[in-house]
Amino acid sequence: MRLKNSFLLILILFVSILTTLAPNNFTVFANDLVKYDGEIAHLFTHCLIAYPDLAFKQDNFMRNDYDKDCLTTSEFKGILAGLYQNDYVLVKASEVYDIKNDRAYKKTLLLPKGKKPLILSFDDVNYDTKKLGRGMVDKIILDETGNLATYTKNAPDKQNISYDKEFINILSNFIKKHPSFSFNNAKGLLCLTGYDGILGYRTNLTGINRESEIIKATKIVQKLKEEGWEFASHSYGHYHMKNISNELFKREIERWQQEVEPLIGKTEIYVYPYGEYEIADAQKQKTYKHNLLEEAGFKLYCGVGKKYFFGYAPFNIDKKNRVLFMDRNPLDGYNLRKDHIEYVKYFNSYEIYDHKNRKVPFYKK
Ligand SMILES: [Zn+2]
Repeated sequence: MRLKNSFLLILILFVSILTTLAPNNFTVFANDLVKYDGEIAHLFTHCLIAYPDLAFKQDNFMRNDYDKDCLTTSEFKGILAGLYQNDYVLVKASEVYDIKNDRAYKKTLLLPKGKKPLILSFDDVNYDTKKLGRGMVDKIILDETGNLATYTKNAPDKQNISYDKEFINILSNFIKKHPSFSFNNAKGLLCLTGYDGILGYRTNLTGINRESEIIKATKIVQKLKEEGWEFASHSYGHYHMKNISNELFKREIERWQQEVEPLIGKTEIYVYPYGEYEIADAQKQKTYKHNLLEEAGFKLYCGVGKKYFFGYAPFNIDKKNRVLFMDRNPLDGYNLRKDHIEYVKYFNSYEIYDHKNRKVPFYKK
């Protein structure tokens, strides 16, 4: 009996020494981290269609936009399951590059053995006033216990507060079930505009009850950051970059800095609205607009493309002037139906397509 007890004591001592020695936390120590220099997948979508019946109703003026640009909750869940099965692991967007001499460079990642890195980003997480009650949730909230949830005033199922209608809760719940889907507490990248506030709060200069909205939004941002979510700028007014004047573009950046930056802090990541970018001109010089972005502190630039690209661009200018650029694969009804060959490595588009709720049928090429 005494022998058994001392064995137990030694075992406890051994484990506690090991735990103290481990860097940061024990799981990292126990995991077999290996160097990774391959592709880093980056997929993006918008806020999810929470209530498909409402979203696709004939008299809903948003129905075509939702169909083309968004995913339903069941599609998003299917995509997560596919990515997990195919050994993808979420990484933070801020952790795929290094800054040297004020410029961003790709970096070699250290990842659990056998895993492929993945960034998920979500555009336009502002729940525009004009879209309220048309099939999405109204806002991100903190519930009575301080946990992230969503709120919908006129929810068709009468559940104002929900935990399974938006990507924030769905992704967190998935990671709780499958912890190895997230590395270093990574969640997703929220790409915000500012013209109608953020996260469902009217924090813009002209917003109603702006001061109290700012207080609420700031608390949500803090909680999101704690849980591993990161933020990018998706411009202030969501204009087509090439179509607006230099003056308006300058005002855009100022508005971002005045109205959104104080809420989320500085971000080095800029996600072009519509994936449309303008870096250099015909004379191979960086444009006025691009220089403004650099001056504002942006270092990683993200576009939209089905094919993989993470590298230095544009190619037509001198190498030393190129910027770190990352394309993102779009996830939405329009692209799922196209059944892209490029997506086979992630999931099966036909299987995850929401045939039951969508009005537009899936078609093969
Ligand atoms: Zn957008």
